[in-house]
Amino acid sequence: MEQIYDIAIIGGGIIAAAAGQHLAAAGYSTILAERVDYGAGTSSRTSRLQHCGLGYLSAASGSLLRFMSRPREALECLDLMRRSMRGRAEFVQTSPERVRPVPFIVPLTPENAIPRWKARLAFSLMTASDGGKVPLDLKLLSAAEARAHPALQGLAGLQRIHGAILFTEYQYHWPERIVVDTIVKARQAGLEALNHTPVTGLRHDGGLWHVTLATPGGPREVLARGIVNCAGVWVDEISTLAGAPHLRRNTGEKGTNVVVRLPQTMRGLGLETVTGTGAPFYLIPWGDLHYVGPWDSASDGRPQGFRATEAEIAAILDQLARLFPGFALQREDVIYSWAGVRPRSLAADGAHASPAVREHDLTGGGLPNYFVFTGGLLMTHREAGRRLTRAVGRRQVPSGPARPLDLSTPPGPDPDRVTEASVAHAVLREQARTLSDILRRRLSVGWGPDLGLGQAEQAARLAAPHLGWSPAETAQCLADFTAETEADFAPRPAVHRAAVAAAAAPA
Ligand SMILES: Cc1cc2nc3c(=O)[nH]c(=O)nc-3n(C[C@H](O)[C@H](O)[C@H](O)COP(=O)(O)OP(=O)(O)OC[C@H]3O[C@@H](n4cnc5c(N)ncnc54)[C@H](O)[C@@H]3O)c2cc1C
Repeated sequence: MEQIYDIAIIGGGIIAAAAGQHLAAAGYSTILAERVDYGAGTSSRTSRLQHCGLGYLSAASGSLLRFMSRPREALECLDLMRRSMRGRAEFVQTSPERVRPVPFIVPLTPENAIPRWKARLAFSLMTASDGGKVPLDLKLLSAAEARAHPALQGLAGLQRIHGAILFTEYQYHWPERIVVDTIVKARQAGLEALNHTPVTGLRHDGGLWHVTLATPGGPREVLARGIVNCAGVWVDEISTLAGAPHLRRNTGEKGTNVVVRLPQTMRGLGLETVTGTGAPFYLIPWGDLHYVGPWDSASDGRPQGFRATEAEIAAILDQLARLFPGFALQREDVIYSWAGVRPRSLAADGAHASPAVREHDLTGGGLPNYFVFTGGLLMTHREAGRRLTRAVGRRQVPSGPARPLDLSTPPGPDPDRVTEASVAHAVLREQARTLSDILRRRLSVGWGPDLGLGQAEQAARLAAPHLGWSPAETAQCLADFTAETEADFAPRPAVHRAAVAAAAAPA
């Protein structure tokens, strides 16, 4: 008899992975289908921070007038800060191998200065939110100390600075690996997970959901009692497939980052400030380089939205030049760029984005046992998994027994190197099917200064026997990887030349 799953999860980003892990552990028989690869959507285009939530707090505090005019939004931001701090403590303590602490400096310029007591109060509130489990290492610099700080030399208006805040943020080793880790653990708990498998049809009939999957072998229909729609910025497309285009819950917001080399004085240090419109703007270390952004703009969620435009790159360079006029970075100094579209919850007015992170039970809207998650963030993904499991639990009982939830990092070969062992593990144990799956999402190599181009040929050669690629197919996979890298990240020509030289060099 055909299996009937308790739940079918649509999507394979960080929220779907967390939902899969928590639902499987709670005893729900669960299948997950991801159109591309685990973590290949917005989860691969982030600023990679397990934020402490300071940005939410400044948004919440603002002025008394602003607080009174939008109290609901301000309280929501306070709540998001609390959840960020708790997510940070949980993740840093259970997965220390996947994060690194990064010292951050916030220059208190006349435009964004806050009194020292307010800064202390903000950090006390944040510390109280996680019970001080993972220290923030707050240090307040006086105006004289800030002016003398090596990293702030060249900052516009340094002589007018009021001081600076130093504290510790955490950065993911790289986020796609967190998605893959979560899928690996979820499969161990019983999740059936399929990548490269788009959901192309969805209908409710005879008390069950019929989910059409486009598998490599042809269409396959699976039956499930409930649907958990975690398709990120595409959640409304899925609801449209289910026959409910009017049940819109999401809107997209594009963010762009560029990778550049900053002066030695900035090495290993992050800097946080705000743009002229009050949006957060970061300089975040990445090895010897920094990525700078995000630059936010509207998006309609189409694939083009996942690529940086020349106008966005120019806007980031302009912002950087206003901040540090002496850096004098030009377009040719941009080593590569990336962009992503944030899924944002639709505000009650149905037109604007809300900062809220929400699960929606659309049973009342005519979609029985159908749950959608909006506004999901990397930094609070485990909480998203718990929230969705609770929401499902209000409608469905699991068909199997609960198992202990194992949040530890799965073991495996060194993910920072292309070796026989790391490529075989990626393909045979972690469902990698393409070079991009291997180099960007199982290994960190695809996020190096050359975007993995220099090691792609070696990885292709090692993967070919496991994936049954002929020499012609291996060459095609390599060409696909190069084309995707050029289209999505626009690396400057020097990156290509260095990669070709590295590939040609004797091993
Ligand atoms: C520039 C930028 C910076 C950011 N910085 C941070 C940060 O520092 N920290 C942080 O916590 N968050 C950050 N975010 C936010 C965060 O990245 C996202 O909110 C989060 O990754 C969303 O995860 P998701 O699983 O909801 O979506 P996604 O990762 O997009 O996953 C949705 C998946 O659904 C799949 N899908 C779509 N349609 C179908 C279908 N028909 N069938 C099967 N699968 C389908 C897609 O292929 C995709 O993989 C940032 C976002 C951006 C854009």
